[in-house]
Amino acid sequence: MESIQDRPCKCSRLDCLKSELEHYWRHIDLVHVLVLVISPVFLCLATQYIHFQRQTALWTLFLFPVGNLAITAGYHRLWAHKTYHASLPLRYFLAIVGAGMFQWSILWWCTHHRSHHRYTDTNRDPYNARRGFFYSHMGWLLFPTPEKWGAVDVSDLKKDTVVVWQDKYYVPLARMVSMLFPSMVAHVGWNDWQGGLLYAGAIRVYLGLHFTFLVNSLAHWMGDQPYGDKFTPRQNLLVAIITCGEGYHNFHHVFPSDYRNGVHWYDLDPTKWFIWSCEQLRLASQLSRIPDREIEYARNLMLRMSCAGPDTYTIPLDSPTMTWEEFERQAKAGRCLVCIAGFVYDLIDFMHDHPGGPKLIQQVVGKEATSVFYEEFHHSPHATNLLASMRIATIHIGRSRNKTYRMTNT
Ligand SMILES: [Zn+2]
Ligand SMILES: [Zn+2]
Repeated sequence: MESIQDRPCKCSRLDCLKSELEHYWRHIDLVHVLVLVISPVFLCLATQYIHFQRQTALWTLFLFPVGNLAITAGYHRLWAHKTYHASLPLRYFLAIVGAGMFQWSILWWCTHHRSHHRYTDTNRDPYNARRGFFYSHMGWLLFPTPEKWGAVDVSDLKKDTVVVWQDKYYVPLARMVSMLFPSMVAHVGWNDWQGGLLYAGAIRVYLGLHFTFLVNSLAHWMGDQPYGDKFTPRQNLLVAIITCGEGYHNFHHVFPSDYRNGVHWYDLDPTKWFIWSCEQLRLASQLSRIPDREIEYARNLMLRMSCAGPDTYTIPLDSPTMTWEEFERQAKAGRCLVCIAGFVYDLIDFMHDHPGGPKLIQQVVGKEATSVFYEEFHHSPHATNLLASMRIATIHIGRSRNKTYRMTNT
C-alpha cells in the first residue's frame, strides 16, 4: 500500500490534511493508544489518592536502572546486535527483567531494531526519524504500518532457547515482573502495596518506555555527528543519562557491533560498565570492541569532509588478480567469496558478525554485489573500511569489462 510520504501531493492543503487523518485513522493501534495515551491520564489521577512514601521512592529509584539495563544490555546490545556472549543465568536474568519493562518480547523488539539499523531513515525503517519527531518517538506504534517495514534475519534469535521461552510466556512474565513483584515487595517491606504498584510499577514502566523512545526520536534529532553524518543519529548526552548510555547514538549507528556506545572512558555509559563487570564475574565473554584505528578513521573522515567537502574512499590496487571463472569456481567449491566493485572479498570470518545476519552474505556468495553493498544497503565508511581489510584479490578486467564498478562510498 502506498504511504502518504510516497505519494506525490497534487491536492489542496485541506485535502492533504484530510487524507493524512484518514491514513492515521486506518492504521490506529488501539492497544498502544490505550497504553501510551490513555493510561497516563489514569496514572496522574491515581497519584492524587496514593501517597508516594519515602521507601517506595527508594525502591522505584533502585528498580529504574535495573529494568533499563535489562533493555540496554540485554534486548539491545546482547540480542539485537550480538556485541558479546552472555552465560545462561545472565540471559535468563536479562530476559525476565526486560519483560517487566513492557517493551514487548526480545524477538519483537530486536526484529524492529535490526530493521531500524538496516533501513535507517527510509520508509522501511520502523521508526524512521525523517518522518518527524513524534512519529519516530511513538507515532510508529500508535499508527503502525508493519507491511512496509524492512524484513531482517532473526533466525539466530529463533534458535535461542531463552528468547523463545520469553516470547512464549511474555504476557504473564511482563505482568509479574512489572507490577506484581514491585507491589509485593513494597507490601511485605513497608506495607505499601498500592504505592509499589503505582510508582515502582506502572509509572516507572511508563517513564522507561518514553526514555527508550527518546533514543529513536531525540537522539536522531539533536546532537553532534562526529562519526558519520550520512544518517540522522546523533550524540545526545541527556538521552545517555536517562537511558544508561544509549544516547551516544551516532557512534552506535556507525559501529553497532561494539558493546560500548560511549566509547571514551569518561562517557556516561553504565551499560558498558555493567557488561564489563559481567565479564569480570565470568557471566559475559567475547566483548566486541572496534579497533581504535577504525574509530579514528571514521572521525578523521568526518573532519576531512567538514574541511574539504565530501571525500571518496579509495582502495589500493596492489592485490593479486583472479579471473571471474576462478572466482565462481572457488565460490562453488565452498569459499565465502563475494565480488564488490571489482574486488574479491573472503567474508568467512566476518559472516556471523555481520550486523544484518549471515543470510545476507550467503545470498551474494559467488556473485557481483556492488549495488547491494552501496545502493540497496547504504554501508558506512567504517563498513567500507572493514570490507577492505577482507579483500583477497582483484577481478581480472578482461572477463569483467562489461561490468561497471564504483570505487567510492558516496
Ligand atoms: Zn537509531
Ligand atoms: Zn542499535
